[in-house]
Amino acid sequence: MSEAGGSSRTATDQAKLPTPSLTLTGFLGQVFRYFRPYTIHTLVVLTALLLQAAFRVAVPIAYQQIFDRAILHRDMTVLLNLLSLLFAGWVIQAIASLVQDFFSAKSGNRAMGDLRLAMFDHLLRLPVGYYSRVDSGDLMSRFSNDLAVIENAFVRSIHTFLFSVLILLTSLTLLFVVEWRLALITLAALPLSLIGPRLLSSRAQWLSYQCKRVEALVATSIQEAIGSHAVIRTFGLQASRLKGFRDQLTELAGIATTARFTASVASRSASQSVYFVQVLTMGVGAYLAIHGILTVGSLVAFVALLLNVANAANHVSAVMPDLLQASGGMQRVLDFLSEEPTVREIPGSQPLPRLSRQVCFEDVSFGYRQSSPALLNVSFTVNAGESVAVVGPSGSGKSTILNLILRLYDPDRGRVTLDGLDLRYSSESSLRAQTGVVLQDSVLFNTTLLENIRIGQPDATEAEVRRAARKAEIHDMIMLLPKRYLTKVGEGGSHLSGGERQRIAIARAILRNPALLILDEPTSALDPATAAAVNETLQRIGRGCTVFSTTHRLGSITHMSRILVVERGRMVEQGQHHGLLDRQGVYYQLWQKQSGFTVSEDGRTAQCSPERLQAIPLLAGLDRQRLQTIADLLVSESYPEDRIVYSKGEPGDRFYLIVRGEIEQILAPDGSRGGGVRKLSDGDYFGAQALLDAMPRQTTIQTAAPSLLLSLRRRQFEQLLEGEPGLRAAIERESKNRRIEQHDTFETIIARF
Ligand code: ADP
Repeated sequence: MSEAGGSSRTATDQAKLPTPSLTLTGFLGQVFRYFRPYTIHTLVVLTALLLQAAFRVAVPIAYQQIFDRAILHRDMTVLLNLLSLLFAGWVIQAIASLVQDFFSAKSGNRAMGDLRLAMFDHLLRLPVGYYSRVDSGDLMSRFSNDLAVIENAFVRSIHTFLFSVLILLTSLTLLFVVEWRLALITLAALPLSLIGPRLLSSRAQWLSYQCKRVEALVATSIQEAIGSHAVIRTFGLQASRLKGFRDQLTELAGIATTARFTASVASRSASQSVYFVQVLTMGVGAYLAIHGILTVGSLVAFVALLLNVANAANHVSAVMPDLLQASGGMQRVLDFLSEEPTVREIPGSQPLPRLSRQVCFEDVSFGYRQSSPALLNVSFTVNAGESVAVVGPSGSGKSTILNLILRLYDPDRGRVTLDGLDLRYSSESSLRAQTGVVLQDSVLFNTTLLENIRIGQPDATEAEVRRAARKAEIHDMIMLLPKRYLTKVGEGGSHLSGGERQRIAIARAILRNPALLILDEPTSALDPATAAAVNETLQRIGRGCTVFSTTHRLGSITHMSRILVVERGRMVEQGQHHGLLDRQGVYYQLWQKQSGFTVSEDGRTAQCSPERLQAIPLLAGLDRQRLQTIADLLVSESYPEDRIVYSKGEPGDRFYLIVRGEIEQILAPDGSRGGGVRKLSDGDYFGAQALLDAMPRQTTIQTAAPSLLLSLRRRQFEQLLEGEPGLRAAIERESKNRRIEQHDTFETIIARF
């Protein structure tokens, strides 16, 4: 879960950032790399550039000939010959410039296409963990801002740069041909023009890189403002967010101004020096001409060539900031491309045959981060055809077990094997081909139902899609739609209900005829009636394949052939439902916690038995009649996902019991979530302190999934205790002894349950 406070990071973080290593030559090397597949195009472009450059330097030489041979000797024939040659040259260079424009645009755009494709391909191969680690705004910025400046260089600036460098080199050479003494003076003075760029360009480049970084932070803020608008509204964070954004913009403006100014000074210093050299040579040249050492034609040619040099230097300096910007952008693109996919296909990896014997975890340990293991020494063997449920409290590692079976990650220690073959050495495609997956939130694309189902098996025929939809029990509903299978599902499947979306996902999974069916909380976001119907479908299609499912709702897995119970990353129990209940261990406690509730068909209201209430330590001392009264007083509250239940500082007046759903706490006032704090789910409770006193809430509580809660008001609870001071004192003692909900810490509640 990304922290909502993430965007408060500022460019001062720059200090921690690596210095960009890509120099201008490094960037040109990358340009060469991406243009290599288009050698023919590039050769055509270079030839066209050479022809144009030849014309540019031929003109000053023509001046020399016209002055010294035609005008001085009044020779019309020479003049006409020279003019004809010039005209022919003009035609050739005009055609060359058109050819160059076409081919440079073509090769530049193709090279850009290749770069985009390489990035997108890399994006698809990056591990799941990468996406939780990076800001999506930063990632988007690499694909938009950074690629835009690179595109500008690939399609335009790089050609201007090459052309100007060609003119510079040829004009400088010809200066020597025309008058070597003057050329020597020019050459001696010219290094002046290199000092500025040399001193400033690396700083300009560094600033450009930082500029890109801050632009990425700005993009992240915008993305967060869109993604977390509900939290921003409910907390009234508009002003603080706006201030944060304004600070970022001020920072961006500062860095962008310095970056642009430094780049401009670096480039301008070069052209200014060339102007100085021009004035110098003009003076010396005129002196030599007056003394007959130099012809007038040569002086004119020399000055014209020098103008070429000045123009070319100007152009180089004009495109230099673009190239520096592009190398900053390219560095960020290269950083992204060098991001290692953690799960790699090892060369020569074996294809997995269709699962027929066993899935084994052999002493598997794994952590998303070095510091905190998500699984520790987990071992189990599941026979092909078994239906396995992985259960445990939130954050205990259930989904991680599925992630490892799906090989979204490799274990840090131990092995995951299918029929004895280590997944690490097996080809990913052969694993995917025999795996069907249904997740809690199934992703549907904004296309037709047909295409959404077919994603499971792109070469499936329409008949096969229909068969899968029939098995997923969604075919009849689809046939009632005006466009049937060609109906579009809307963005994220918004035109369908939660249950329908899950059935589409099930059809998608069935289409693969999976040997392994992976179900990660597939019905936890559905109302009880829909969840029960979808569970029935899943049970039916699970026959004949090996099923691994996670759920925190135990009522739906009692039929499973095996239940694996995990707690804090360790596997603590395994067996079948009744056997596990008899053990009276972790599973038994989880079961107890979730039993005693009756939920209405539509999932909007619930009732709780007095026995269930008695299991809550705070209420354990009450007699049955009082417990029954409390059970009658409980009010059902139904919340969608991401809805605030109560906020820090509000007067606490209610106690909550979670019938179904998931609850998390938001600790910081800026809306950021409490990292590492476990979520509460079915059967847990919170806000108990509110039953005893009117203390303000210590924390903010929000739903992490659609949730059904039962609440009890303090006033009613107090009325119940009136006239029973002894009982009240006993409850207060109980609360103190167990330190329930000290500072409303979830960990404490769970630990004391
Ligand atoms: P469960 O499915 O039982 O709720 P998970 O397997 O999702 O638990 O998570 C186990 C632990 O790993 C938790 O502490 C969780 O915070 C952490 N975790 C899960 N996914 C990630 C991730 N992508 N990056 C970092 N930590 C993660």
